[in-house]
Amino acid sequence: MSPLMRSISGVRGIVGESFSPEAIIHLGRAFGTYIEGGRVVVGRDTRTSGEMVKHALLSGLLASGCPIVDLGVVATPTASLMIGECGAAGGIVISASHNPVEWNALKFFRADGIYLNPEQSAELFRVCDEGPFRSVRWDGIREVEQDRRGDGIHLRRALGLVDVEAIRKARFHVALDCCNGAGVGVTLRLLEDLGARVERIHCTPDGLFPHDPEPNFENLGGLCELVGETGCDAGFAQDPDADRLALVDERGEFVGEEYTLALAVDHVLARRRGTVVTNVSTTQALERIAERYGVAVERTPVGEVYVAERMKKIGSPVGGEGNGGVIDPRLHYGRDSLAAIVLTLEALALSRRKLSELVARLPQYAIEKHRLELDEEARAGLAERLDRLAAKPPAGWRVDRTDGLKLIRGEEWIHLRASNTEPILRIIAETPERGRTGELVREYAEKFSQST
Ligand code: MG
Repeated sequence: MSPLMRSISGVRGIVGESFSPEAIIHLGRAFGTYIEGGRVVVGRDTRTSGEMVKHALLSGLLASGCPIVDLGVVATPTASLMIGECGAAGGIVISASHNPVEWNALKFFRADGIYLNPEQSAELFRVCDEGPFRSVRWDGIREVEQDRRGDGIHLRRALGLVDVEAIRKARFHVALDCCNGAGVGVTLRLLEDLGARVERIHCTPDGLFPHDPEPNFENLGGLCELVGETGCDAGFAQDPDADRLALVDERGEFVGEEYTLALAVDHVLARRRGTVVTNVSTTQALERIAERYGVAVERTPVGEVYVAERMKKIGSPVGGEGNGGVIDPRLHYGRDSLAAIVLTLEALALSRRKLSELVARLPQYAIEKHRLELDEEARAGLAERLDRLAAKPPAGWRVDRTDGLKLIRGEEWIHLRASNTEPILRIIAETPERGRTGELVREYAEKFSQST
């Protein structure tokens, strides 16, 4: 049986195995205790296990005396934004994001709509393991308020970021792949409000994922074809909780999720200068773009909370993660596919260029992301192996230990880190040239698939 996985991205597991109603009630009581019976906003994605998880979670929260705002099915960024809107003490989103359909997860948020940071997560897990839990009597149990305003509020605020009239005038024709996830309703409304004609694929919010939900090249063949066949200006693909966005250009070619953020950064910096914040695994195209505007890029460990907290602290105008996660702090401090969509459409409308042309004007790098499955023994020995490699890197390579191990030589880098959410080693490399990037990935995949 797969164990529950705890990380700064929350607690996830396989439904019917470790992610059981008992475990979820326990986590609900722990969070209710952690936020001292404060108001909690709860939302979920479209996974078929969502209702079961929600009821167990609400039971645990109610037993701790928390009043609850139930948002129903919403995108993760909608929930994050609604925490502030409802004046809640925190929030929980029920979504395993891009994990396969048999997984589900609880993701924990603070009053400012940002994920719990590592210290806060550690405190929550300490409460979870050691207790004692806050527990109320019959007369201390509070109400569950149903609130379905989330989509409307989110899309209004997303529209507020951009020149809506300019976008409407462009009369865009776009294709949308929501992976049957939580983004369907709000994204279709957003595009309609922007005057776009929409070709839909996988826009039935039933939580049955038609393809592996990771929004990458291998999984978006259907969207690429649809864009090509229908002559759309662009294709948009979300992951099931709609915090990430991948782009397909007007020729039906996958743009690469790294370039969702690169485009947004270029577009925002042209209007508002400031330091860009991103994680160590994201394309170096961001540094080259930032140089054009005379600003810097700061790099954090991988995980939205690190990027969001840093952005908030230094007042960064734009940031995010290279997995298609754009953060525009005017909306909230979280990755938001709606923010990414409106910024992309505004960039297209104001430049009067095609998406492929906009992308071609950005610095070009080839990034490759590889997942190496680890057995328990390999996982246990991983930290030590990375330490050894860091102590004695290959000649000419610089070591960066912001998160895991990153080796850098000129415009080539390779990043090795244990995933927060799955039992795998992530190997990510980038160079100016596709062949060379592949070579680097293969070299390290081979090295780390042999145990030592
Ligand atoms: Mg996600």
